[in-house]
Amino acid sequence: AKSQGRNRYIFFDQEMNQETNEHLEVEKSLHKALVNQEFVLHYQPQVNLKSGKIIGFEALLRWKHPKRGLTAPGYFIHVAEESELIIEIGNWVIKEVMRQLKEWHDKGLRPGKVAINIAGKQLESNHLIAFILQNLKESGCRPEWIELEIVERFIMKDATKSIALLKRFRELGLDISIDDFGTGHSSLAYLKELPITKLKIDQSFVQNLENSSEDRAIARTIIELGRGLGLVVLAEGVETKAQKELIHSSGCDLIQGYVFSKPVDAKSVEEMLKNQSHM
Ligand code: C2E
Ligand code: CA
Ligand code: CA
Ligand code: CA
Repeated sequence: AKSQGRNRYIFFDQEMNQETNEHLEVEKSLHKALVNQEFVLHYQPQVNLKSGKIIGFEALLRWKHPKRGLTAPGYFIHVAEESELIIEIGNWVIKEVMRQLKEWHDKGLRPGKVAINIAGKQLESNHLIAFILQNLKESGCRPEWIELEIVERFIMKDATKSIALLKRFRELGLDISIDDFGTGHSSLAYLKELPITKLKIDQSFVQNLENSSEDRAIARTIIELGRGLGLVVLAEGVETKAQKELIHSSGCDLIQGYVFSKPVDAKSVEEMLKNQSHM
């Protein structure tokens, strides 16, 4: 029994080593990816169901990995977020969105607001506001073209601090949306105080709308809560026509999801916007 236990222990150790090695491997190649400019942004449209029109986009990070090809953040974002790398990557995302927005507007395109995902470490760093301000100036991008998207649990980690910080973003003219809403235990008392503009209903509540009366109740309640607080409410991860209709009949006009479009590259965004202006 003793030797068996010992074997199990060794096996477990090896598995842990393998995980740590992979983690280190990804971390190393993320450094290289920054230097070699292997990151690219895709954009997923947000749509108003009443007008059928695109009202904005969420910028989503992709890695043109030399071996894996175009890679979604599921593979690497947790590694980046656990290290300081997320600051540098996040800064690149901010710069790139601003550059892209200025280019689109100069071409006469009107993409609406583009949402940028901001990680916890970025929020905690004291440089974020100064970085955004400086890059707004340098890029010629206007603050009202941008929305910052922050997951609920980061905001609630230190709600008092978040309120002060988010107020400063709002003073700069940036909109703030709470991402993955419903998964992070928001205190309603704080929610009232948060200077935010939008709630994004997490896709986990949207996925089972057709089959779960509980999820329908949650979605409806979030929609009403948001409206009552004077916020814009958007449902994420809407994949099917049935989900879209349930969301719409619950009083929510804004969706983002495969049912309208997957995230697409910048060129495709331009096509979408040109087609829409002919509608
Ligand atoms: P998120 O912020 O919740 O973004 C939504 C994710 O849902 C995206 O995955 C999007 O492609 C996916 N999605 C959109 N519509 C649907 C749908 O109808 N069905 C399903 N099943 N999924 C849908 P993606 O692009 O793989 O990004 C995953 C996560 O990586 C994001 O989740 C976000 O947490 C993180 N991420 C992405 N870009 C950035 C970034 O620039 N900075 C930071 N810090 N995190 C990012
Ligand atoms: Ca997001
Ligand atoms: Ca989300
Ligand atoms: Ca998420």
